[in-house]
Amino acid sequence: MPFRNRYTGLIDKYRDRLPVHDDTRVISLGEGNTPLIRLNNIPATLGRDVDIYVKYEGLNPTGSFKDRGMTMAVTKAVEEGSKAIICASTGNTSAAAAAYAARAGIAAFVLIPEGKIAMGKLAQAMIHGAVVIQIKGNFDAGMQIVKDVAAHAPVTIVNSINPYRLQGQKTAAFEIVEELGAAPDYHCLPVGNAGNITAHWMGYSEYHENGIVNNRPRMVGYQASGSAPFLRGHMVDNPETVATAIRIGHPQSWDKAWKVREESEGWFDECSDEEILAAQKQLTEKEGVFCEPASATSLAGAMRDIKSGKIPEGSKIVCTLTGNGLKDPETAIRQCENSGVMVTVEATMDAVKGAILDNME
Ligand SMILES: *Cc1c(COP(=O)(O)O)cnc(C)c1O
Repeated sequence: MPFRNRYTGLIDKYRDRLPVHDDTRVISLGEGNTPLIRLNNIPATLGRDVDIYVKYEGLNPTGSFKDRGMTMAVTKAVEEGSKAIICASTGNTSAAAAAYAARAGIAAFVLIPEGKIAMGKLAQAMIHGAVVIQIKGNFDAGMQIVKDVAAHAPVTIVNSINPYRLQGQKTAAFEIVEELGAAPDYHCLPVGNAGNITAHWMGYSEYHENGIVNNRPRMVGYQASGSAPFLRGHMVDNPETVATAIRIGHPQSWDKAWKVREESEGWFDECSDEEILAAQKQLTEKEGVFCEPASATSLAGAMRDIKSGKIPEGSKIVCTLTGNGLKDPETAIRQCENSGVMVTVEATMDAVKGAILDNME
């Protein structure tokens, strides 16, 4: 059977490293196994000799890394007899919860901050049939309500405080190690609730403890300046950023993430919205990779730390691109307005020819 090598999702692939049994009914959409793309053009613009890879998590089934955690969380919820899941979300968790709940045949309730969620994510939550509850408050308020509701009703929380989420998400580190043959020197991530940076460290550490690799990366977490509790050293009450996926002032994995920083000898830093958007655009224009704004925070921070020499020459760096650029078409289009890339002309050969000639270098 020469063609039998079907990829069926990360639970099947990493079964012996995840809390599932032989007879567990796996709820999967074929998540994981995402591309690790080596950047060809951006390193040269930095004037430094470094190897940068981006882990394009936007190619998961619902377009973000949340699928890695959601396949595990929903699989376990179903195994434990749950008929409904609930989450607070800045968007991507609600999209993943809605899709995996549909796949499992259970209900999903999602709380989202009114007006502060990217259009693609809202479309996903709605079309998959989740009950979408918009609250007149931010993610942090929604998270508190979800915890209170779950304490009184038979619903399973699928935010990253659900330990199965981190179990699923640690597999991204496994994939990187398998592809590079070792852990990178630095692993850069955008940080919101800090579940993902925690999960990656768990994955690297597990492979290290089992003798599969003998190195672990320094973990570097970047936040948006207007939403940067790890930089302020305390919770932030009114977080603001264009990167809505990380518009979180009260991170749920606060203690865990500080421990990751300490154990990995990494650091936290912040990026302005301008830096984030510039990195998003550079990645699309110079490398052909389209991620959402929050995702570009990892590259924005890494580029700055490479230029300054904080990340030294000769380093191998992985930046996680957490979500797909198509999630937030409005921000992408806004980035290109007045850039001259779109012109409107008469529907004639001459007019189109003129537009082409005008725009040739
Ligand atoms: C959820 C999310 C993050 C933040 O991940 P945390 O685990 O909350 O730190 C970053 N980027 C995108 C696109 C996300 O959906």
